[in-house]
Amino acid sequence: MTTATEPVTAQTYQLLIDGDWRDASSGRTFERRSPASGELVAVCPSADEQDTEAAIQAARRAFDSGKWSEAPARQRAGVLRKIADKLREERPSLSRLLSLEVGKPLRESAAEVMMAADVFDYYAGLALDVKGQAITGYVADAIGLVLKEPVGVVGIITPWNFPLLLCTWKLAPSLAVGCTNILKPSTFTPCTTYELGRIVTEAGAPPGVVNVVTGPAGVVGEKIAASAAVDKVAFTGSTETGRRIMQLASSNVKKISLELGGKSPNIVFADANLDAAAGGALLGIYLNAGQVCQAGSRLLVQQEVHDAFIDRFIAFTGTLKAGDPLDPTTTLGPLVSEEQLHKVEGYVEAGRQEKAKLLKGGRRITGEGFDRGLFFEPTLFDQVENRMRIAQEEIFGPVLSVITFREPEEALRIANETMYGLAAAIWTNDLNRALKFAKGVKAGSVWVNSYHTAGIPHMPYGGYKQSGIGRELGQEGMEIFLETKSVQIKLN
Ligand code: NAP
Repeated sequence: MTTATEPVTAQTYQLLIDGDWRDASSGRTFERRSPASGELVAVCPSADEQDTEAAIQAARRAFDSGKWSEAPARQRAGVLRKIADKLREERPSLSRLLSLEVGKPLRESAAEVMMAADVFDYYAGLALDVKGQAITGYVADAIGLVLKEPVGVVGIITPWNFPLLLCTWKLAPSLAVGCTNILKPSTFTPCTTYELGRIVTEAGAPPGVVNVVTGPAGVVGEKIAASAAVDKVAFTGSTETGRRIMQLASSNVKKISLELGGKSPNIVFADANLDAAAGGALLGIYLNAGQVCQAGSRLLVQQEVHDAFIDRFIAFTGTLKAGDPLDPTTTLGPLVSEEQLHKVEGYVEAGRQEKAKLLKGGRRITGEGFDRGLFFEPTLFDQVENRMRIAQEEIFGPVLSVITFREPEEALRIANETMYGLAAAIWTNDLNRALKFAKGVKAGSVWVNSYHTAGIPHMPYGGYKQSGIGRELGQEGMEIFLETKSVQIKLN
């Protein structure tokens, strides 16, 4: 079993291009160090434009050859099932690597690996169910066929907070329908994407079907987003980068799907089970140290239960254990980077300046076991107004803003007063109120009496407003990798 004391052996990775593992043509590399301890986790190739172009052309050739796109669906489904099996077999080592590169607690990493395996299994099933339509009765002398075809070469650009799962949400359906791919993980978390590239290759995907390239985002990411040889970009990341991807993708009007940021409301009504709601709110904001796009970072509490609820919530934060992500008892890991830590510190200062009331936390965690890491206290601001920066901007850290409301209509109005629309939750025992809220809130995912519950691969995931374009997971998550062709046949 993995233990917290096992020494870290740094991995060395190479680019995966056309089935070959190779160094960057410049020979340049970059390092990833554990955000918990500063230990070296991996040395990775730093690709340039030429390497990225080689990966794009490999994916192009692989697609155009038809060896994957025209392979029988059951062959592709078989490869996807093998990938799922391998992810499960390698779960201990992959979980450990995920915890080392991201800093997330081992139990969260283990869940991420399992969810990724489930998603590959799910799309292995759907691979067998790609189907169009026949229109036979509209006119007597013609038949219409609606065909579904793979969109082509896909650039998959992913962030650092769930590097394995968010790559899987794109790669599994893309492979299922016959697309070929260039994976560009974040430079903060390249390791598990390289491992996934290896696993896909071992599972039998032909050379060029999956290529992995790491390097500066402004070179590798921009090249993929702008290339005329790429037919689609599937992106998860910040709204700001999403806008840039849209601009670059416009050069050849490539298809795009974007999963972007959030500032999700988590609403507690007076009639809710307050213990359950406090536990859900804790998970909602402190999972992965708050570095979650759908984090419940705005907690709206009905006035009459405000004090009772906040007391419970603060008591629950006492159960969090910050520390080594590889220690199975740890529940709060470090932030991913110095940059992220400074960003969070900046927002705590902004909250203070805007006169929100800091009830808990607000500082970097220091002292024995923490000095070499990027740990931050679970932080709670009360008396927040929805116009404040800490209520409007995505902090992406363990910082919760509490807003008080009186009437349900006020809660819904506040919930929707944001440029984002990724997720929302409501805690109530009133079914009518829950359903009205679920209908009224402008968010792609809504939970009732829970937060972050999930992982159902059948449920489409994505955002309203500036939280994105398109949906991943479910049937819709496969449609975004398909083109539609109408064929009209004249009968004589
Ligand atoms: P990010 O800075 O936007 O980066 C996302 C990816 O894009 C990374 O691989 C990054 O590479 C790359 N990139 C950066 N600039 C680029 C450019 N000009 N052209 C092409 N690629 C570029 O986001 P992040 O900080 O990694 O992740 C946090 C953000 O992701 C948050 O806003 C969060 O809400 C969002 N997110 C959304 C979802 C969702 O499903 N809606 C899920 C998770 C996260 P480098 O990292 O190497 O710079």
